[in-house]
Amino acid sequence: MPLKDSDKRFWTRVNELAKENLPKATYDYFIAPAKLISVIGNEAKILISSDMHKDFLKRQSDLFNTASLEIYGDLLKMKVLSSADMTDAERKEMNKSLESLAESSDTVIEPVLKPVKSNLLKKYTFDNFVAGDQNRMTLAATQTITDSPGDLYNPLFIFGSSGLGKTHLLHAIGNEFLKKHPRSRVIYVSSEGFVTDYVNASRKKQMDSFVEKYRNLDLLLLDDVQFFSDKEGTKNEFFQTFNALHEKGAQIVLTSDRPPSELNNLEERLVSRFSWGLTTNITIPDFETRMAILMNKAEKTGLKFPDETISYIAGQINSNVRELEGALNQVEFLAKMEKNSTVEISTAEKAIENLRSSNSHTRKSNLNITKIKDEVAKYYHLPVADLSGPKRVKEIAYARQVAMFLIRDLLGTSLPAIGQEFGKRDHTTVMYAVRVITDKLKSDNETQRDIDNLKRKLEA
Ligand code: ADP
Ligand code: MG
Repeated sequence: MPLKDSDKRFWTRVNELAKENLPKATYDYFIAPAKLISVIGNEAKILISSDMHKDFLKRQSDLFNTASLEIYGDLLKMKVLSSADMTDAERKEMNKSLESLAESSDTVIEPVLKPVKSNLLKKYTFDNFVAGDQNRMTLAATQTITDSPGDLYNPLFIFGSSGLGKTHLLHAIGNEFLKKHPRSRVIYVSSEGFVTDYVNASRKKQMDSFVEKYRNLDLLLLDDVQFFSDKEGTKNEFFQTFNALHEKGAQIVLTSDRPPSELNNLEERLVSRFSWGLTTNITIPDFETRMAILMNKAEKTGLKFPDETISYIAGQINSNVRELEGALNQVEFLAKMEKNSTVEISTAEKAIENLRSSNSHTRKSNLNITKIKDEVAKYYHLPVADLSGPKRVKEIAYARQVAMFLIRDLLGTSLPAIGQEFGKRDHTTVMYAVRVITDKLKSDNETQRDIDNLKRKLEA
């Protein structure tokens, strides 16, 4: 219901009185941004931007009473609302009246949105993220996007294998962003989380809230896009979300275990958009950085770690940061059991030995398709793209079959899924490859040796 002239006069009067009676800063902060939405019966609805303002406004009943007696000759009941305490229905009603308000005046009025839950973990920050050559470019980019989001690097696409800090970085970006832009709308979500959210929304017929939630963000942090489901509806929704956000200059950050060009689960039109901004690669930290990371984490154990011990651990574990942390935990655990306050190399040695023997079978769980492809390509001195490419040269075809066989054998991935990973080949091609290598393993020495070597490398 549009505001009547008397309502507008009432609100002007409230503002005049507030200006006269309150310090300027207080007026600017609390009263000026408040909006009169409607006066229905004897209830006036006032919209404010946060609950903090609500308490303040309620304490100003004198102002409101004076103004309402002057204008209406009667007392109005004040209903002060912030978007946080509205129901969906109220918000809808509110947005309708805001629209009509906007039509009758020149002011731009933002719709009232339900606050979003950011899903950010406080423990992942830039303070506890160690810089090194392997992530320097990515860190520089994150600085830029938290300072001037949506501008230069949009989207920022970060890729690198598991355990190298991608998830940590996304949370750190979100936390930093909220510090710099406190009222902004930020969501961290894994690709699977996005898909689940979408599926639930469409099943419960709540697509409105889904769209409202994801298309009004200032920052979307989407983790592990390689796990995006290949269901049409979901992919299309993500495409629309991406476009809507990009168009309005919202910042998007994506992570994946592989570069955009190798994302077979997503269609070309989407993948090409990923390269509009900046793509950065995080790699395995070098020895010095591994030491720095260990020192950083060792400080929190309450134990004393001499440099030799740190450098021993850094020399032993060269795969990824998650494993580095795992090793440090194991060392800490053993040192505390043995009641040592200083951790000697011998303790670290023992702890890592334990870890190795108990891990030799679970280690496989860190394997993934990309690692297997990389290892096979390296082993046969081929560019990794050739494995997924169309070339049928004997050497390449053979290496491709080996890679398919290893993925099937070590990861148990389904035949169609493997086919997808190799340039969308048919599952019968994969089945054939697995059979060829299985047969050769029975008789051919060279194949036996290759598979042995490769497995050893992959499981090391
Ligand atoms: P990813 O998402 O790439 O698989 P995570 O972000 O989950 O990796 O990182 C794995 C673990 O390693 C986390 O506990 C994270 O805090 C830690 N980590 C990774 N990189 C760094 C770094 N550069 N400095 C400090 N900790 C790191
Ligand atoms: Mg992760």
